[in-house]
Amino acid sequence: MFSEFPVDFWLALMLAVAAGWFARQIWNNSAKASVKSRTEPFNIQYFAGLNHLLNEQQDKALEVLRGLAEADADTVETQLALGHLYRRRGEVDRAIHIHESIMQRNGLPAFLREQARFALGEDYLKAGLLDRAETCFQQLIDQLGHRSVALRNLLSIYEQQGDWQQAISTYQQLSGFTSPEHPTALAHYYCELAEHAQQEGLMQQARDNLDKAFMAQRNFPRGNLINADFFLAAGDARNAAALCKRVMELHPHLLPIALPRFIKALRSLGLSMDNTDGELSLSSADTSQRAALAYAAIVANVLDEPYLLQCLPDFLRQDATLGEMVQALVGEPATLNASQLQSVAAALAKIFRRTQRYRCVSCGVNTGSHFWQCPGCHSWDTLAPVSRLELSPVSRRG
Ligand SMILES: [Zn+2]
Repeated sequence: MFSEFPVDFWLALMLAVAAGWFARQIWNNSAKASVKSRTEPFNIQYFAGLNHLLNEQQDKALEVLRGLAEADADTVETQLALGHLYRRRGEVDRAIHIHESIMQRNGLPAFLREQARFALGEDYLKAGLLDRAETCFQQLIDQLGHRSVALRNLLSIYEQQGDWQQAISTYQQLSGFTSPEHPTALAHYYCELAEHAQQEGLMQQARDNLDKAFMAQRNFPRGNLINADFFLAAGDARNAAALCKRVMELHPHLLPIALPRFIKALRSLGLSMDNTDGELSLSSADTSQRAALAYAAIVANVLDEPYLLQCLPDFLRQDATLGEMVQALVGEPATLNASQLQSVAAALAKIFRRTQRYRCVSCGVNTGSHFWQCPGCHSWDTLAPVSRLELSPVSRRG
């Protein structure tokens, strides 16, 4: 657990403790002799604690911090560092107790009260007490030193709560003075609102939100897919199919998401994927494109489309293990007839349903379904289909 936190983080934490402690000595206007007598033991213990942290000896560091806190219960910075360490160790109840105690102190300087409030907000966030965390961070957004992180944490809270209006407002406040961490997040918030309005039958509201999504991100692929759904619902399958085709061509990692919509739109037009309608034709002689289509069809379980079945041998050739397995059990993939291909496809789709189909390129979490926002690291647009069949089970989150 300790290794999750870089040395820089611990260094910064301990230096903050030291800086705060010395600042407090000055703030107290203590006599020089008194400062000296208290500085020396603090120095020794502080550097011992720092040494333990740098050597990844978290328990010993905790022991030192506890000793410091007990020796001088009035030193808020030490209490803050101890609370921080408890939270990092997962002992959130203890962290909350420490930080709440600090907040109850009378005569606490404003900057220390803000630090304690911020720490308490992070405790609540980690404990899943989102309403309490929101209150803490809301009280800090006017404080320059905490504004940016408080707004980021509020954004995370609103995302978790699915409160997209608040997320939009917070995102806009944040982007007023710093670059957003996830540039496409705003467009996703509007897409969430558009989808919700569509489900409620509020089509004008849905379209307004979709327009705002496109204002935030031009040609936003998720927006195009929602727009395709709108066209399909309105009976305009040609425009729906054209939008899906565009998304598949420009964003191959979204093939499994766009392909089922594309097929649905084609069928509404009385077409199939091997159609000769130039504008909507996806037929390709490129082996890797055909393999990608077959793979997407397996992941999305839409292998009843004859053209996609014809692409299956290209996918099996690309995945040596699978190809050899099929060859041993059924025959050389290129020589299989439609019925045999259908059986292989059905078996593969069954296996895929029980395996990891998507992986976050940012944190590596595996899921069985597609999410626009990674359930692991909460990044947007980072889930992509795994490049080939992996026979390990889906993660708990999937
Ligand atoms: Zn992730």
